[in-house]
Amino acid sequence: MTALNDGWFTEVFQNQGTAFSLQVKGKLHEEQTPYQTLEIYETETFGNLMVLDGCVMLTSRDNFLYHEMMTHPALFTHKDPKKVVIIGGGDCGTLKEVLKHPGVEEAWQVEIDERVTRVSEKYFPELCEANSDPRANFFFGDGIQWIRDVEPNSIDVIIVDSTDPVGPAEGLFALDFYRDAMLALREGGIIVQQSESPLLHTDTIIRSIHEDMRKAGFCHVQTLPFPQPVYPTGWWSCTMGSKDNPLKYFREEDASNRPFVTRYYNPGVHHGALAMPQFMVDALEDE
Ligand code: SAM
Repeated sequence: MTALNDGWFTEVFQNQGTAFSLQVKGKLHEEQTPYQTLEIYETETFGNLMVLDGCVMLTSRDNFLYHEMMTHPALFTHKDPKKVVIIGGGDCGTLKEVLKHPGVEEAWQVEIDERVTRVSEKYFPELCEANSDPRANFFFGDGIQWIRDVEPNSIDVIIVDSTDPVGPAEGLFALDFYRDAMLALREGGIIVQQSESPLLHTDTIIRSIHEDMRKAGFCHVQTLPFPQPVYPTGWWSCTMGSKDNPLKYFREEDASNRPFVTRYYNPGVHHGALAMPQFMVDALEDE
């Protein structure tokens, strides 16, 4: 549920008894796409804000936290990622981070709603600046079907940068999807999924991601918490599943000598994110 009152945009988290507000200068865009309501606001202090179906997706100011953590831990854990596929991620922020890795030869963004990408090109041009990279490929359609149809053993890293597990994204949090992803990944392959709030969803969504990834054959599963001020509780996570290699080890020297700029990610942050809080260890240890 959202409200726009006295120059404030508010997302109300109905069943949590909480809300998050940003002071806005005005609404820049609104449309009903075939999949969702898409709104863009100009805020006073967080730059532009994208809202899908009333849920805050990203702001110019803090999206780097999410996009860097969805990308770099997985790409520096994989031994040599050459082909990377993003499911969702229509704002192109994850694609931009993936293409910073010089070893990546081919990246795909598989987004169901082309309007999210077109509107991002206009209101978040800084996230779309790698879109003309010759390694970037775009497919607009359902990521669940795309992964089902893709050639087996053809992908190194799958990044599921989706909306919450309702509507078209629901099947991206399902056992069948993880089974198809398992088949699509090459040896050494890694899947990483946005996995909601540690505080709100450890016993529900995060636990079932762990269970289903393991059932699908991912032998190592690891959740990495990170801050995300504009999402419910201000705290978010991604969960990595590995086809074979342990996730505790990463290419730390390569991460230290990365030939590109990051604003949040570095090897220390990577180590810190691997240390799960005790309540998560307790909740997930018997899965
Ligand atoms: N960072 C955001 C968050 O966690 O709230 C998500 C960013 S991105 C805008 C999420 C994208 O996933 C949306 O553009 C949505 O259209 C896309 N999406 C949802 N379900 C999908 C599916 N089945 N296949 C491909 N893309 C999907």
